[in-house]
Amino acid sequence: MRIDLAVLDRQFELHRAEYEGAALRALRSGRYILGPELEAFEREFAAFTGAKYCVGLNSGLDALTLSVRALGIGAGDEVVVPANTYIATVLAVTENGATPVFIEPDAYYNLDTERLAAAVTPRTRAVMPVHLYGQAVHMPPVMEIAQRYGLAVIEDCAQSHGAHFGDTMTGRFGAIGCFSFYPTKNLGAFGDAGAIVTDDADLAEKIRMLRNYGSREKYHNELCGVNSRLDELQAALLRTKLKHLPALTAERQAIAEKYLAGIQNDRITLPQTRPGAEHVYHQFVVRTAERDRLQAYLREHGIDTVIHYPIPPHLAECYRSLGHAHGDFPVTEQYADEVLSLPMFNGMRDDEIGYVIDTLNRFS
Ligand SMILES: *Cc1c(COP(=O)(O)O)cnc(C)c1O
Repeated sequence: MRIDLAVLDRQFELHRAEYEGAALRALRSGRYILGPELEAFEREFAAFTGAKYCVGLNSGLDALTLSVRALGIGAGDEVVVPANTYIATVLAVTENGATPVFIEPDAYYNLDTERLAAAVTPRTRAVMPVHLYGQAVHMPPVMEIAQRYGLAVIEDCAQSHGAHFGDTMTGRFGAIGCFSFYPTKNLGAFGDAGAIVTDDADLAEKIRMLRNYGSREKYHNELCGVNSRLDELQAALLRTKLKHLPALTAERQAIAEKYLAGIQNDRITLPQTRPGAEHVYHQFVVRTAERDRLQAYLREHGIDTVIHYPIPPHLAECYRSLGHAHGDFPVTEQYADEVLSLPMFNGMRDDEIGYVIDTLNRFS
């Protein structure tokens, strides 16, 4: 059997007529940028999260970068970020001329809140929790420390659409929540897209201007903005998928339950969920000291896996100037050497799930 990490056309096929209808509606409308589909999606996604405002953008990276910019964070400022994250979180900081300060992860792969207060200096302006793999960060201590030191909280929800910690949805703890709708994400578009949600009218307005060349009114450029608009076609398709998101999330959680119940191999560590945290399983990530051998073994048996992520941002070539070395963040580096993401996608069949489980259980 051959199983890819993510087979995206399965979820398209599940509601094919709806997606095709939405795409045709957008194509026939004659409005392709900043039109009624985007307005409706922003209204609907704000309602889904419970936020007052949503601003659609071109990507998750833009959501993060423009959030940092709208908060007035730049050169001379420090922003605390998890060392164990996708590089986009860090790029949003450095793109604005600010300095990322890394902290190690906990046993759930998310930022270790026990280490947060010690990372704060007089220059710290913000902290960016990333709800990695779809599991909500332990947010109560993050909010408590942010409040104590007057830090803005910018949540990276690129992998956590709809996940809660306690009763609060990710993206709703901090000043601003940043989302990616990259096709593989839990709420994926059919191209690039992203958004922010916030209750702060000024922040929403600033980002709304920044995404469109810094103008409220055409050709009146108050801010030095960018072009980061979410187009009508993607907005129409996202509106369709958003209606199905609760069911799509439940399906991912059901696949994870089967993996958790079925995989029994002493060499393989299964993901754990912190009490109070919801996990929406953007990725199902296992860990083993023999990761490369496991990955090769699975490949031989037709199972595609990916490492999220093989090189932590502090060791990325582009961040050599930050002066970090191997050994600076040993927990993060160990995870980078040991993690492996198993196939996880909507529309994955029981025989495929069973095959992955059986193959893993035979790994010796
Ligand atoms: C995908 C992702 C991003 C970036 O989103 P894009 O839409 O690809 O720009 C940012 N942070 C995390 C944690 C992500 O997984």
